[in-house]
Amino acid sequence: MVFLSIVIPCFNEEESVGIFLEEIQKTLTDCDYEIIYINDGSTDNTLNKIKDLSNENNNVKFISFSRNFGKEAAIFAGLKFAKGDYITLMDADLQHPPSLLPQMLNTLQNEDCDIVAARRVSRKGEPKLKSFFSHGFYKFFNRISKMNLIDGATDYRTMTRQVADSILELNEYNRFSKGLFEWVGFETRWIEYENVERAAGETTWSFWGLLHYSVEGIVAFTTAPLSISILLGTVFSAIAFIYMIIIIVKYLLYSDPVQGFATIMCAVLFLGGIQLLSIGALGTYLGKTYKETKNRPIFIVKETNIESEEYEAG
Ligand code: UDP
Ligand code: MG
Repeated sequence: MVFLSIVIPCFNEEESVGIFLEEIQKTLTDCDYEIIYINDGSTDNTLNKIKDLSNENNNVKFISFSRNFGKEAAIFAGLKFAKGDYITLMDADLQHPPSLLPQMLNTLQNEDCDIVAARRVSRKGEPKLKSFFSHGFYKFFNRISKMNLIDGATDYRTMTRQVADSILELNEYNRFSKGLFEWVGFETRWIEYENVERAAGETTWSFWGLLHYSVEGIVAFTTAPLSISILLGTVFSAIAFIYMIIIIVKYLLYSDPVQGFATIMCAVLFLGGIQLLSIGALGTYLGKTYKETKNRPIFIVKETNIESEEYEAG
């Protein structure tokens, strides 16, 4: 029989963790499994709730971070500590229906694939503006990078140990899971489902949070914005050159004095803007590189009930 590890990042999910476990127990009746809750620096009672669950149930493990390191870090930690032959990533809020799990396992065991991932076919219940920006992001990202992210793909996926190990090898600090999964390759099957609303609690994603996350994704997977500066620079130099010739010719042939305070202002401001934008893009990459070179750990564990050589070793 296969052994499944289910990794659940939790940030202030005190109301959800219990319901989540019940649902999993109902769904997984003929399979050995462990549930790994990762408490990502919650400020509510999540940790105690998880500890209680782990005391009552031997299948429940937990890892508690020393502060909030973000969902991506929690996923990384979960993959690292998971012992299963298969590993599932899931949200705590039941937006990832546990009812898909048996189908995922079945597909993984019987078909020739390494990852089974869930894809939302509707964004019902989600603010219109959020859907609009999400769709836009996928289009933009796929266009400027060589990747092909699937619109609506979620982090809800079940993978083989081999895939998890490959993801762990990508130990960069700036993590963008959707891209990492695409980057490591392997054969992915998609299961489609309708969007489900949160069981309890509130989403922690704000508009600015998502925008920041999108920039992280782009910076992590393509240097296209840097090439765009070069392109813009070339285009504007060419325009300036042509304009210069026109002015010289006009002056020599028609003795037409050069006029135009407005033209100069426009040109200066416009180019100044583009220069700042380009420096900004450059700086963003430099900043990310700076962060990577510091080589800081992706997460710090404060407490866990998982025995692991790696953890003991520090
Ligand atoms: N999460 C986390 N750390 C964070 C933010 C979120 O571990 O800093 C977890 C959260 O508890 C949930 C999952 O990531 O299990 C998805 O978060 P959320 O439901 O807020 O995002 P949404 O479903 O709205 O995209
Ligand atoms: Mg959610």
